[in-house]
Amino acid sequence: MKHVFKQKSPLKQFVSELLSGNTVTLARAITLCESQKTADRKKANDLLQEILPHTGRSLRIGITGSPGVGKSTFIDAFGKSLTSLGKKVSVLAIDPSSAKTKGSILGDRTRMEELSKDPLAFIRPTATGNSLGGVADKTREAILLCEAAGYEIIIVETVGVGQSETTVRGMVDFFLLLQLAGAGDELQGIKKGIMEMADGLVITKADGENEKRARQAQTEFQHALHLFQPSELGWTPKVLTCSALEKKGIDEIWKLIEAFHSFTTKNKSFRKNRDRQNLSWFHESIDSLLKRDIFQSSKYSTKIKSMEKKISSGKIMPSLAADEILKMLLK
Ligand code: GDP
Repeated sequence: MKHVFKQKSPLKQFVSELLSGNTVTLARAITLCESQKTADRKKANDLLQEILPHTGRSLRIGITGSPGVGKSTFIDAFGKSLTSLGKKVSVLAIDPSSAKTKGSILGDRTRMEELSKDPLAFIRPTATGNSLGGVADKTREAILLCEAAGYEIIIVETVGVGQSETTVRGMVDFFLLLQLAGAGDELQGIKKGIMEMADGLVITKADGENEKRARQAQTEFQHALHLFQPSELGWTPKVLTCSALEKKGIDEIWKLIEAFHSFTTKNKSFRKNRDRQNLSWFHESIDSLLKRDIFQSSKYSTKIKSMEKKISSGKIMPSLAADEILKMLLK
C-alpha cells in the first residue's frame, strides 16, 4: 500500500484526518491494518500507537445469531434509531466462513440499506484473513480506529456458527444474541454456551402471526437464563422481543444496553472487563507472533520437517517434538 501517508509529516497528517472523522482516511487506515505486508504492519503499528490516547470511549456491542434470524435487518433499524439520537455508529463484521473463501458475506453495504446511506454511520465489510484469530485481531484494530474517528457505538456482527461468538464476546462490552421463535423447541436449537455469554437476548420477527410465539419464547428463554450463574459482571441477562420490519421494540433494546452500561460502570465491572480483554489480546498476540516466527523462519523449517517425519513414523510424541522446537527458540 503506497501513498497511505502523504509526504509532509505523513503520519501526523494522517492521524489528524482520522481524528477529524474523515471516513476515507478511516477506510484506508483499516485497509492498512488488514495488510499482510511487513512494511504495512510497521506503519499500522505506528498509527495505532499514535491514536491510542483517542480510543476506548465507545460502547462496543457484539451481535450474533444464525443466518436468517434477521441480523442485518435488525442492525439496520437499530443503527438508524441510534443515529436519530445523534450518535455516530459503526458496524464491523466477523465472518469465519470468509476466512476460507476470502469473500465477504457479512457487513456488506447492501445488507443495511438505510444505515449505509446515513452520514452518521460507517459500515465496513468483513475483514478477511487466514484464521479466525487473524480476522479477530484486525477487527480489534478496526474498533480502535473507529473510536479515534469519533464513533460512539461500535457494532461487531458475527454469524452464529462455532467459535466466532467467543471471539466477538472477547472484544465487546455487551453481547446480544438474536433468536427466532417458533422454530420447534426453543431451547433445543441453541447452544447453552452461547446463551451463557449473552448479556441480552432478543426474539426477532415478533410481528403478525409470530408475535404470540415470540412472547412465549421470551418467557421460556428468560426462565432458562435464570438457571444460569450470574455473569462475572454481576449482570442478569434480559430477554426482549422486537420486529425490525415494523420497528417495534428497538428503543427498548437500546434502553436495556444503556441500563447495562450504567450498571457495569457503577460496579466497575465495565472497566475490569476491558482490562481483561486487553490482557488476553496481549497474550494471544504473543502466541500468534511466536507461531508465525517459528513457522515462517527458515531457521526452524528443517527441524520441523524432521520432527514431522518422526511423529508420522511413531518415533516421537508430538508434545515432545514441540518441546524440541521450543528449546531451539530459547537457545
Ligand atoms: P440475517 O441473515 O441474520 O442477516 O437475516 P436478514 O436480516 O437478512 O433477514 C432474513 C429474512 O428475515 C429476510 O427475508 C428479512 O426480510 C426477514 N426479516 C428480518 N427481520 C424481520 C422482522 O422483524 N419481521 C419479519 N416478519 N421478517 C423479518
